[in-house]
Amino acid sequence: MDFELNEDQQLFRRTLRDFVDKEIVPVAPEWERTGRYPTEIVERFKELGLFGMTVPAEYGGLELDRVSFALVFEEIARGWMGVAGVLGSHSLSTWMIARYGTAEQKDRYLPGLASGARRTGIALTEPGAGTDLQGIQTRAVLDGDHYVINGTKTWITNARHADPMPVLVKTSVETPAHRGMSIILVDADTPGYTVSRDLPKLGYKGTETCEISLADVRVPASRLLGGVEGRGLQQALSALELGRINIAARAVGVAQCAYDAALQYARQRHAFGRPIGDFQAIQLKLADMATEIQAARLMTYWAASRSASGGVKAEAAMAKYFASEVALRATMEAMRVHGGYGYSQEFVVERLYRDAPLMAIGEGTNDVQRLVIARELLKGAARVGW
Ligand SMILES: Cc1cc2nc3c(=O)[nH]c(=O)nc-3n(C[C@H](O)[C@H](O)[C@H](O)COP(=O)(O)OP(=O)(O)OC[C@H]3O[C@@H](n4cnc5c(N)ncnc54)[C@H](O)[C@@H]3O)c2cc1C
Repeated sequence: MDFELNEDQQLFRRTLRDFVDKEIVPVAPEWERTGRYPTEIVERFKELGLFGMTVPAEYGGLELDRVSFALVFEEIARGWMGVAGVLGSHSLSTWMIARYGTAEQKDRYLPGLASGARRTGIALTEPGAGTDLQGIQTRAVLDGDHYVINGTKTWITNARHADPMPVLVKTSVETPAHRGMSIILVDADTPGYTVSRDLPKLGYKGTETCEISLADVRVPASRLLGGVEGRGLQQALSALELGRINIAARAVGVAQCAYDAALQYARQRHAFGRPIGDFQAIQLKLADMATEIQAARLMTYWAASRSASGGVKAEAAMAKYFASEVALRATMEAMRVHGGYGYSQEFVVERLYRDAPLMAIGEGTNDVQRLVIARELLKGAARVGW
């Protein structure tokens, strides 16, 4: 059993760490506060090839191994979780197009998506259906050689930059519902496709999250992902496994940043004539944070590395659930270590505290992850042990 990253992964992590420390950490506080779009960071993501993380090399992608994929999100989220969102749903959908797309769809979209010339996201959630994706109302009806789509999607990250946007629709209302669901790749300039508004958020700034309206949107039938109706829910759910590894890794990055800040503060801040790190109450917090973060990291790398060889429903759900709860605790504890200064916008822990909760919600809430884990255990598809 080898707990070390291989040489390529270590070099890759060093490159990422250097990039994050020099180009993201210094600008994050002000850009977050002012709501400025991180255009320069996006350009650097392009130069580093990060938009092509999950795109096969034959289409110009990096085709990263899964642990390196997790390292990208861990390192970027350590600098600013919001900008990790620019790459999150993009990489999930590029994987989905590469895995399920027809040859024509791959040729049309993947080279541009790999370079970042095109970007994408994923539109699953609706005002009336998030966890319950089978309850979506967006319909696509075949009319000649086009689908006509009507509906509303909400909470869609990267919506203002996505082209195409993969949209989960009902192509049939037969039961069971999952058999009537499909994903259609909608080009952003299609008449009737509108990004209607940006949603105000607690944190996760730097990446837009929007509502999308689809009114009589006519899309060529050839944009049905994979070319066969009824496979959309399964395509989306398998992509969400990768998405959960990305969220787990982001949670590790946020928690690590909180811990680093708390450790530094514990050494510098004095009370009663000594550094607060001398007090046992502060030491216990640091010890708990360090232990939990390292456990979350190992679980995330474990799920990532296993995902290379097949489905990891339970492993990805465990990593996402555990790491995001660790991030919630670590950001709160880092705030406590900082005393009143933790509540100040001049210290990073305030932003971390606002960013952490998203990881307990996105790519399926943590209660849903627990249900997924339990289901896999009960049917014998996952087990606890080695
Ligand atoms: C910042 C942000 C960005 C997002 N980006 C995207 C995106 O890019 N694309 C996209 O499609 N979506 C996106 N989402 C949506 C996100 O995936 C959903 O919010 C999430 O899946 C939960 O759905 P919901 O909000 O409708 O909550 P609901 O499904 O209404 O859940 C409400 C509560 O009920 C619980 N619950 C629901 N069903 C069950 C059940 N069967 N058993 C037990 N408990 C249950 C949930 O755990 C939760 O506590 C984003 C959300 C946020 C906040």
